[in-house]
Amino acid sequence: MNAATLHSSPAAIELVALTKRYAQGSPAVDSINLRITSGSYCCLLGPSGCGKSTTLRMIAGHESVTSGDILLDNRNITDLPAASRGTAMMFQSFALFPHLSALDNVAFSLKMKGVGKAERLARARDLLDRVAMGALAERKPAELSGGQQQRVALARALITQPKVLLLDEPLSALDPFLRIQMRAELRRWQKELGLTFIHVTHSQEEAMALADTMVVMNQGLIEQVGSPHEIYNRPASEFVARFMGGHNVLDTPAGKIGVRTDHMQLTPASQAAPDGLHNQRAVITDVEYQGTYVLLGLQNPCVSQTAHTTAELSVMVSEAAFAARPYALGEAVQLSWTPEAAHPLQAERCAPVTATA
Ligand code: ADP
Ligand code: MG
Repeated sequence: MNAATLHSSPAAIELVALTKRYAQGSPAVDSINLRITSGSYCCLLGPSGCGKSTTLRMIAGHESVTSGDILLDNRNITDLPAASRGTAMMFQSFALFPHLSALDNVAFSLKMKGVGKAERLARARDLLDRVAMGALAERKPAELSGGQQQRVALARALITQPKVLLLDEPLSALDPFLRIQMRAELRRWQKELGLTFIHVTHSQEEAMALADTMVVMNQGLIEQVGSPHEIYNRPASEFVARFMGGHNVLDTPAGKIGVRTDHMQLTPASQAAPDGLHNQRAVITDVEYQGTYVLLGLQNPCVSQTAHTTAELSVMVSEAAFAARPYALGEAVQLSWTPEAAHPLQAERCAPVTATA
């Protein structure tokens, strides 16, 4: 692809009190505010139904906005048609037209815009060359591997010269091996093209691997925005700690805290607790070998049963440490952690109040 084919520059996206309310019930997206830096890789992450796709479709112009604004480089695009926003969408499993060649798939949107045949095919060829698919331009999607289809889908999205590329679970239909390969390729393209990518996923692992900025959503609201490192090391709320995994949530006299499962130490109950560390007693309920580490499930009988689910804990022990001192099911242990390993968590948000007749 030469400069004439892709001369778009990346753009910042800003969501201001953006809200989507479908026919009834609580809003699917509830007055969210978000600024996505120009040229960054942003992942919208959260469980199914939390409002990720609705948010993305509103940015794309495929879904009307109930209230609030969407700004692209400070230009209000809230009410613009999809084709004039400067955004393009790449869908789950790429959604290529099966009866069209790779070349015609890529050229399709230019055909819809009335661009002449010679020009649209030349531009499509340029883009296919750019994603190393020039030699396979005449093949139909069924004659291409999953990875090759993804490249065609990317070229097809880029032909409209978007400033922002929107991706809704683009990897979720792929087998695990290809998914990991393709996410590395997406990341490389984003860096190479320098475009703003907004990628929806329900996989924390995928978001952490890809994102400059992660936006964790829950029930139509944003729980936390930060780099993967910030989110993983300082989850702001109980929801984020539990959703990201790898954390224990404990009710202590000082309040609710999160501690990473690999930042807890285990000692036999018969030994004195390590000096200066917080500690609690627990019983081993599960031992799972995971290769480089062993994941131990524990029950913490000190915690009152009225405090929900805090009794189930897990601790990650390196394979070497476990081999040096294995623990058995039913064994009583002490769990300890340094003050620095613990960080305060906002309690679970109350269930949204919905009007009932
Ligand atoms: P996600 O992509 O995070 O899984 P969605 O944005 O698709 O979530 O959905 C958010 C909420 O809005 C869900 O409760 C879903 O059932 C609802 N929803 C999504 N699309 C529609 C629609 N077209 N009509 C009515 N409700 C919808
Ligand atoms: Mg979705």
